[in-house]
Amino acid sequence: MKLEVVNMYPDILNTYGDMGNLICIKKRCEWRGIDINIKNFTIDKEISLEDSDMILIGGGSDSGQNIISNHILNHRNSLENFIEEGKPLLAICGSYQIFGNYYINPYNEKISCLEIFEMETISKKERLIGDILISNNLKLDMAFNLKQNHDLSDIIGFENHGGRTYHKYDPLGDVKIGFGNNGEDGKEGLVYKNFIGSYLHGPILPKNPHIADYMILNALKNNYDVDYLTENISSLNAIDDTIEINAHNIMKNRLMNTS
Ligand code: GLN
Repeated sequence: MKLEVVNMYPDILNTYGDMGNLICIKKRCEWRGIDINIKNFTIDKEISLEDSDMILIGGGSDSGQNIISNHILNHRNSLENFIEEGKPLLAICGSYQIFGNYYINPYNEKISCLEIFEMETISKKERLIGDILISNNLKLDMAFNLKQNHDLSDIIGFENHGGRTYHKYDPLGDVKIGFGNNGEDGKEGLVYKNFIGSYLHGPILPKNPHIADYMILNALKNNYDVDYLTENISSLNAIDDTIEINAHNIMKNRLMNTS
């Protein structure tokens, strides 16, 4: 099987190492014999978004966010169609914010956003920084690999943002330790169909392999009859996640013991 993955603005939105999410998806596909073709989408190199099976976008500085915000508006309809088709898209921090109605930056400037979600972000001087642990609200029972004795009922990461984001969609998780969307309502991220917006850097996927596999399964189903319910999915046979689970648990336990 084959997956087409688009990595948006890797030259501008990778301040916090979110490129690791792409490497994680790439390796987890390769370890299973799934052919993965990765294309970079940048300001100087626009490629079709709707033809791909998965989109990844990282976080960056406010200046980087300003640079891409006008450019990405030209691709609003393609991104909205992509999301409505149920294809997986992961947007981290600044790129997560861009899918809302507007972003008020630290200079009190109103930055136009994609207006795909009824969501607003207002930046405040005090930044929300630190390790973060949230519950896992994704319906992961669909993902075969998660039946492999993974006790991954939560999601671990690192956050660093001045923006406070407000919306009424399903969150990616409830904040157990940390700040989340706005440090007020106890919610983190946004899930709509297979769009996942989150403030979790880390990068989020390597230490949360269940989320990576969930995205891979949802990308595969666009082109293949991937039966979620059987445990003999050759396309997603279990892989040894010992290192990933250890990294997840070490960071989780460190956070729980120091909070
Ligand atoms: N606009 C983002 C913020 O709220 C930029 C930081 C990020 O993407 N990590 O600070």
